[in-house]
Amino acid sequence: MTPGGTGPRVAVVGAGVVGMTAALALQRRGQAVSVLDPRAPGEGASYGNAGFLATELIDPLSTPAMLGQAPRLWLDPHGAVALPLRYLPRLVPWLARFVAAAGAAQVAKGRQALAALNGAAVDAWRRCLADIGAEEELLPSGYLLVWESPKGMAQARAQAEHLGRWGIDAQLLSGDAIRQREPGLNGSVSHGLYFPGAYQVRDPHALVRRLSEAFVARGGVIRQAEVGRLEPRGAGVRLHTDAGELDADRAVVAAGAWSHQLARGLGLEVPLETERGYHLTLPERGQALRQPVGSAERRFVMTPMSCGLRVVGFTELGGLSLAPVQRRYASLRRHAGALLANDRGLDHSAEEWMGFRPTLPDSLPVIDTHPACPAVHFAFGHQHLGLTQAAITAELVGALVLGEAPALDLAPYRVTRFQR
Ligand SMILES: Cc1cc2nc3c(=O)[nH]c(=O)nc-3n(C[C@H](O)[C@H](O)[C@H](O)COP(=O)(O)OP(=O)(O)OC[C@H]3O[C@@H](n4cnc5c(N)ncnc54)[C@H](O)[C@@H]3O)c2cc1C
Repeated sequence: MTPGGTGPRVAVVGAGVVGMTAALALQRRGQAVSVLDPRAPGEGASYGNAGFLATELIDPLSTPAMLGQAPRLWLDPHGAVALPLRYLPRLVPWLARFVAAAGAAQVAKGRQALAALNGAAVDAWRRCLADIGAEEELLPSGYLLVWESPKGMAQARAQAEHLGRWGIDAQLLSGDAIRQREPGLNGSVSHGLYFPGAYQVRDPHALVRRLSEAFVARGGVIRQAEVGRLEPRGAGVRLHTDAGELDADRAVVAAGAWSHQLARGLGLEVPLETERGYHLTLPERGQALRQPVGSAERRFVMTPMSCGLRVVGFTELGGLSLAPVQRRYASLRRHAGALLANDRGLDHSAEEWMGFRPTLPDSLPVIDTHPACPAVHFAFGHQHLGLTQAAITAELVGALVLGEAPALDLAPYRVTRFQR
């Protein structure tokens, strides 16, 4: 079957939220698109994220303030940052680059580049979902970021001012005002920031399934295949997979935390690490909160979803092969129990999950064309923001594939920016 469209054949590697939005964007523009993934759509990081369009996260992960807090977060047994000792030797080169990225000039450039993507993110999602008649997947939810200690007041105020300078509305609320807005929280909250313009999705896995159903209904093909290598051939590209070969005019590598392996096969070293994140989903507690709630001190997020209440946290720099660390689930239970007015469902009935956030040392994704193989494009490395930035990334990489001028300056997201 011809995979939809009558234009050139495009192969998208990876059926996560980035790959599926890219596949739809290309299909919409008349390309004949196939998606390749050994797993069903949305079963990577896109399965279990916090479902929140975190457009307020415009600061890169590596800043002097973050590096200052990291040792405390690492040493606290329930702290948000984990560096498994077994993995540390492999992590050192990446960590060195991460620390180097905290220089003032790089942070300023990174903030600009993240703000550009985040600022365009919600409208791009609206266009994507309107195109397939799935607008109801995106909810204007608002977001609360809360502090338990009154000592965090100055930090909250400073953050609201900082974000205000970037056009992001963050309103400082007292503990009482927060509890009025969010009766699902208990009395431990001292104050917080309310983001009235924030959005969440109903369920991130259901969202990717919906994208893939629309893609297939329009003639797109999803092949269950793992791509081992891409080989430039003439003006096109051959994909070598565990289910045979596929020739395409263009390929888009959107394989999340695995993308650097395919880039390496094409001669590009990309320092992509994985920030392992954990979740609990409490299936019966989807009504426990009215909106997503984050804790500034505990560094975790709770989002009410159609599949239940999701409790999400941790940055564990542990690579792709270590098993999940079981005590992280106990920490998530402890954190959620400390804030929720009713902790029902935080028991064994909660779903436990771990996934891989794909992260580069400067916190920016790669959205680019291979410098020597013009048939190969990249869309990966979206760290904590892959859901937020998927639809705008899809439009940008779509422009690259079609040879059009992208709507944003893509210089900050170059695939070669770490080459020496
Ligand atoms: C706990 C947690 C909470 C998060 N919360 C949020 C949030 O609230 N908001 C937000 O914006 N982001 C959030 N994120 C980040 C977000 O989930 C990711 O950035 C995003 O899902 C990445 O999407 P992706 O499509 O690039 O990767 P993935 O969803 O991981 O998809 C990559 C796909 O590529 C496939 N693949 C890999 N190798 C190959 C190969 N060789 N051949 C074929 N296919 C291959 C994989 O099987 C996978 O299906 C969170 C992440 C985690 C882990």
